[in-house]
Amino acid sequence: MENSTQAIEKINCLIIGSGPAGYTAAIYASRANLNPVLYEGMQTGGQLTTTSEVENFPGYPEGVSGNEMMEDIRKQALKFGADIREGNVTSADLSDTKKIVTIDNKKTIEANVVIIATGASARYLGLESERKFRGMGVSACAVCDGFFYRKQSVAVIGGGDTAVGDALYLSGIASKVYLIVRKNYLRASKVLQERVANTPNIEILYEHVTKEVLGDDSGVTGLRLLKQDKEEVCIKVTGMFLAIGHKPNTEIFKDQITLDENGYIITEGKSSQTNIQGVFACGDVQDPTYRQAITAAASGCKAALDAERYLQLQ
Ligand code: NDP
Repeated sequence: MENSTQAIEKINCLIIGSGPAGYTAAIYASRANLNPVLYEGMQTGGQLTTTSEVENFPGYPEGVSGNEMMEDIRKQALKFGADIREGNVTSADLSDTKKIVTIDNKKTIEANVVIIATGASARYLGLESERKFRGMGVSACAVCDGFFYRKQSVAVIGGGDTAVGDALYLSGIASKVYLIVRKNYLRASKVLQERVANTPNIEILYEHVTKEVLGDDSGVTGLRLLKQDKEEVCIKVTGMFLAIGHKPNTEIFKDQITLDENGYIITEGKSSQTNIQGVFACGDVQDPTYRQAITAAASGCKAALDAERYLQLQ
């Protein structure tokens, strides 16, 4: 039988999340002797592990895979003594000076300071048919699942950097890639747009909205689209990849931490300070604007420095 009176583990600095923000906070916090414990959450390494090539992080002139880069930052945090653990924070009471957090609904941690770096998760369209075929052709991670669509036709939904990056990645695997864009232009950076324009097996369908995912027992067989709000179009694809942005992972904090209208944590001025003393936030969970690996890493650094200053004043 499970021991329900398990002792509470008392720690100094708790970091929640393992993207570039969380790991960078762990590097700085360990070097400042804050003895950080970092819980990695559902997706070790965060969203970057679902990215193929990272070309814009300084220090990697040849580019680097998202996985490799996260492994490098993780190793750097371990080198300075960060205690990195598997586990997901399932509830938190941050109201007191001592912050109480539960891991995987069973282990309780008491921390003097908490750094939230829980990032953001992929958005879905919200269609019933999309839910039905999740894992059977519907995916939000081209890099994880693209491999299964060798020489098949697939669709990517979205017009931002992620969508265009995913379309380019999939064009090397699939025979045909449709990029389904709801506006009449792409939001993606110019360099990516040029690459798409020069990739013959990518076809962009502007002003198309996905109405239904079609399929049978074998999984996705096509998409029913609406063109310019009037004309119905069906395309044959066996995979649909969502790349329509992300929502911040703030569900467990929403009753305590002040969030903006989209659920992002609000931090004070240029700092990582949340509305609660001793609780700091960094990375995509508090950044609806920049959302880059480098800005997330920088904000992780700031959160660790803010946490250090806070602890010095206690
Ligand atoms: P974005 O928010 O930039 O783009 C989302 C795209 O999805 C937009 O084209 C948007 O259309 C579309 N979209 C949103 N909701 C729907 C919907 N319900 N139906 C159809 N389409 C929809 O998200 P990204 O994930 O692409 O990028 C996030 C951030 O990460 C950006 O700052 C980006 O620059 C950055 N990034 C950088 C990369 C790099 O530098 N290599 C790689 C990947 C991301 P609309 O334009 O109409 O709103």
